[in-house]
Amino acid sequence: MKEIGLYLHFPFCVKKCAYCDFLSFPTTEDVKKIYAASLIREIRAYAEAAADCTVTSVFLGGGTPSIMPPSQLRSVFHALLDSFRIAPDAEISMEMNPGTVNEGNLSFIFDYVNRVSLGVQSFRDEELLLLGRIHSAEQAVRSIELLRKSGVKNLNLDLMSGIPAQTAKSWEETLRRALEFEPEHISAYSLIVEEGTEFRKRQKAGKLSLPDEETEREMYRISGEILEGAGLLQYEFSNYAREGFRCRHNVRYWKRGDYLGLGLGAASLFDGKRWHNTRNLEHYFAHSADPGQIVCELEQLDKRAEIEEFLFLGLRMRDGVSEAEFRQAFGLELRDIYGEVIDRQTGEGLLAAEEERIFLTPRGIDISNVVLAEYLLS
Ligand code: SF4
Repeated sequence: MKEIGLYLHFPFCVKKCAYCDFLSFPTTEDVKKIYAASLIREIRAYAEAAADCTVTSVFLGGGTPSIMPPSQLRSVFHALLDSFRIAPDAEISMEMNPGTVNEGNLSFIFDYVNRVSLGVQSFRDEELLLLGRIHSAEQAVRSIELLRKSGVKNLNLDLMSGIPAQTAKSWEETLRRALEFEPEHISAYSLIVEEGTEFRKRQKAGKLSLPDEETEREMYRISGEILEGAGLLQYEFSNYAREGFRCRHNVRYWKRGDYLGLGLGAASLFDGKRWHNTRNLEHYFAHSADPGQIVCELEQLDKRAEIEEFLFLGLRMRDGVSEAEFRQAFGLELRDIYGEVIDRQTGEGLLAAEEERIFLTPRGIDISNVVLAEYLLS
């Protein structure tokens, strides 16, 4: 029986954050209702194709899934349970925004969800304001306390470095404040200014002042030092977890396991094919019962692309890439293809090899863009 993950996209947010390029936008209660019904139709349409699969992780992401009425989330979940074989110990994650944590969605979490990812970003109000977040630091604290009180035992806090006006010291304060709540997991991403965002507009107009590269590096170093010092081990470039609390769903992405993306714009990797759903809401509403009609940019990956992805994604993880897993996946020897690059990068202190695994060293992580580019098979 094949193991898969499911990603469910909820594209709605109270308001757009200044840095956000995700598929998300404000909406009305009526549209949420139609969306939930459309998502349920899509879920049911996959029942047959997924009959020989066991779902070991479900991720409700967005957007802001916690903006959906709990009754609609329950209906979506019932459809999932009807249509897919979900393993009894499956990891069920839900993203929440501290501005939307309330009694209603806490009851849904209690019944169905065993991992919550809370978008805190910063514990400083002036930084939250600059990011355009809808919540204060105090609201984040209250949300964490509520989540813990309602029994959440696997909690991730999303934090962001590289925010305008942030300093290494204020980043350190945010990290230390986060640790006071003893989260099982922290995702510490650095801000990337993407095209089409409010931040990009401000940057073009010369009105966005970001920490310089050296400060960014210092922040990255501080993250590792403080989080690892508190027992959260870095298992991927930006992710830290206590023993046994790595996000299984994300590890599936990095290991190129199969997953189905359901909902507007959601991406899938299944049976060697990649695609994403339509990003047009009207089209999604009209055709979600027939997944063939909402699939976009369907790509049958060739072996070369799969090998490149295997290295690109696998080397993001601290455990790196296993030569045995490579052999099993492709029927080839990793060193027959990349032997020269591996030896050179090892000699330069960018890569290390241990027990049939290769992984990046801290120096390699520092210049990972350059290091990973060498795994392209041109
Ligand atoms: S809450 Fe998340 S998805 Fe929504 S606008 Fe902000 S960053 Fe984007």
